[in-house]
Amino acid sequence: MSKSNRTTQEWQAADARHFLHPFTDFKGLAAKGSRIISKADNIYLWDSEGHKILDGMSGLWCVNVGYGQQSLIEAAAKQMAELPFYNAFFQTATMPAIELAEVLAEISPPGFEHVFFTGSGSEGNDTIVRMVRRYWDLKGSPERQIIIGRINGYHGSTMAGASLGGMSGMHAQGGLPIPNISHIEQPHWFEHGQDMSREDFGLKAAGWLEEKILALGADKVAAFIGEPVQGAGGVIVPPSTYWPEIQRICDKYGILLVSDEVICGFGRTGNWFGCETMGFKPDLMTFAKGVSSGYIPLGGVLVGARVAKVLIEEGGEFNHGFTYSGHPTACAVALANLKLLREQHVVEHVRDDIGPYLAQRFAELNEHPLVGETQSCGMMAALQLVKGKTPDKPTGTAFASELEVGMICRKYCFANGLIMRAVGDRMIVAPPLVMTRTQIDEMMGLIRRCLDQTWEELS
Ligand code: PLP
Repeated sequence: MSKSNRTTQEWQAADARHFLHPFTDFKGLAAKGSRIISKADNIYLWDSEGHKILDGMSGLWCVNVGYGQQSLIEAAAKQMAELPFYNAFFQTATMPAIELAEVLAEISPPGFEHVFFTGSGSEGNDTIVRMVRRYWDLKGSPERQIIIGRINGYHGSTMAGASLGGMSGMHAQGGLPIPNISHIEQPHWFEHGQDMSREDFGLKAAGWLEEKILALGADKVAAFIGEPVQGAGGVIVPPSTYWPEIQRICDKYGILLVSDEVICGFGRTGNWFGCETMGFKPDLMTFAKGVSSGYIPLGGVLVGARVAKVLIEEGGEFNHGFTYSGHPTACAVALANLKLLREQHVVEHVRDDIGPYLAQRFAELNEHPLVGETQSCGMMAALQLVKGKTPDKPTGTAFASELEVGMICRKYCFANGLIMRAVGDRMIVAPPLVMTRTQIDEMMGLIRRCLDQTWEELS
């Protein structure tokens, strides 16, 4: 029986009765009631009460081509009618998976000719752990076990993904991280480097990797993993000196370099992959989200020549894989998505037009008395809420964390029909890549209004 004529309150009650949401205080949600999203078009969502909302977060950093793209919808319907599912185990394959692997090799940086498909970014990072360890086993260095990630990095929610990430709240539950994962501090100039130039800080932050490698013993370290630009951690754009120095250090000690491209991949930073924007050459890349613009779950690992050669030529059977590795419907949607990105020159649109425009409009917010720093890279941007700005200290000082100023600002975003995320007191956006300048102006108007209302409440 259709339940589509339920009221919002009825939906909320059913939601609270049965649905355990991710990263959610279950009891708190039941008390407040969730917002039920019922439809979407282009960059807008509508809730069950008919309110229109500008989606400044592309769903969850994924709906890069915006909602309602017919070619993706038709690709799914066509593939479902023809062959909704078949697996890729036991020497079988489906055509969409083969074709998607080909296209991914075409758009990836030189040397990436192979892909391992998963159903999500977290599974992709689990695959990274398996592959990295297998690689060193095959190279005759099984003692190289340790993978180094970063505090406040995010690599997913499975045991390995959450371990590679450096989210203290996640580590506090369930005995994480798993053994042989280590972390260094993040390259967050605003928090750790204000006494020096951004460039000098970038070198210093990369130096923490070398210190960690030497402390652990270089012969024990297998790989370093990082997001080119930290997303969930608060859109932390590292100084330009950071990644080239990380690359130099990994090369010096022979350590594998892994780029988690789950957010940064497929145009978000103005190139196909974030490592291209940040100027480094990884050995492995995790992807998900933007590969299918979130229309359907899909992820994977792009495997560079150094690792692929060993796994293929010396590895024998790789005892790893998922039911949905290379899911034909997911791959068909991803193919339609990548075709759209290519035919409509979306990556160039981000690099040459809309990304620089977002950066310009965000930089203007630095004049606001609540804004201590803005950062952006392609179609992701952040502003830091602070108090007490003076000409001598234009970056101001942090609010007491118990004031939860980010949540106050988020409350106004909610009220004004804007999805903007609060990471502590850092407000972030990652809107669809197909946005126009007029739509950016509309979003910036809403952001300014929310900042003004927050300022008024705090004054
Ligand atoms: N890696 C990064 C950088 C992410 O941002 C995310 C999700 O936000 C993941 C991995 C995990 O992806 P998924 O939620 O698809 O498992």
